Amino acid sequence: MNYILLGPPGAGKGTQAKKIVEKFSIVHLSTGDMFRQAKQSDKAIASLMEAGKLIPDDVVVNMVKNRLKKDDVKNGFLLDGFPRTLNQAVELDKMLKTENIKIDAVFSIIIDNDEAVRRISGRRMCECGASFHVDFLPPKVKDLCDYCKKKLFQRADDKEEVVKERLKVYDAQTKPLIDYYTKAGLLVDIDGSQSESAVFDQISKFIANKK
Ligand code: AMP
Repeated sequence: MNYILLGPPGAGKGTQAKKIVEKFSIVHLSTGDMFRQAKQSDKAIASLMEAGKLIPDDVVVNMVKNRLKKDDVKNGFLLDGFPRTLNQAVELDKMLKTENIKIDAVFSIIIDNDEAVRRISGRRMCECGASFHVDFLPPKVKDLCDYCKKKLFQRADDKEEVVKERLKVYDAQTKPLIDYYTKAGLLVDIDGSQSESAVFDQISKFIANKK
């Protein structure tokens, strides 16, 4: 059971991914999470991320290649945020062939750009991992986490001007993957403007029927 989640920033990939991997007991492979970890000690990665730019393909591909060699992916995985360029998709196909792994489907979550900007620029995070939104999911006390009471912060790459850059990068570099995976017969369209639970239901039903 191996899946890919594709979609612009703000489509809800991270939220859906967490729920899917929990429900189906598969591994969550988020390159964004891996780079958020790496950026603590790597200034080049930090500055690319904070500008909303992509990390060079060779760096990303090597990281994923090493990750796919680990045993835990054998029971199934969900790739979130990778591939993000055509070159990454081609490299992924080569890795999968070498490791004898098959992708079952690519979920393409679609939302429009204005909605993406609204969703991401209002997002506020807590160190504990909790996430809020100034309009859609405000904390009980302004700027404080409901769970651990720490001060909420905005991710550097969630600032409005950076979000617009990330969307531009998505349109230019990642959108062509929709065509790539349609041709491969793997694409499953998901309307990301539905509620979080409706999106989750749609994806869950698809996976459950495939099992
Ligand atoms: P995400 O959380 O998936 O939106 O990723 C956050 C940031 O990590 C992106 O804006 C990129 O700077 C970097 N990143 C994550 N995945 C990739 C990838 N597959 N290729 C290049 N850069 C990536």
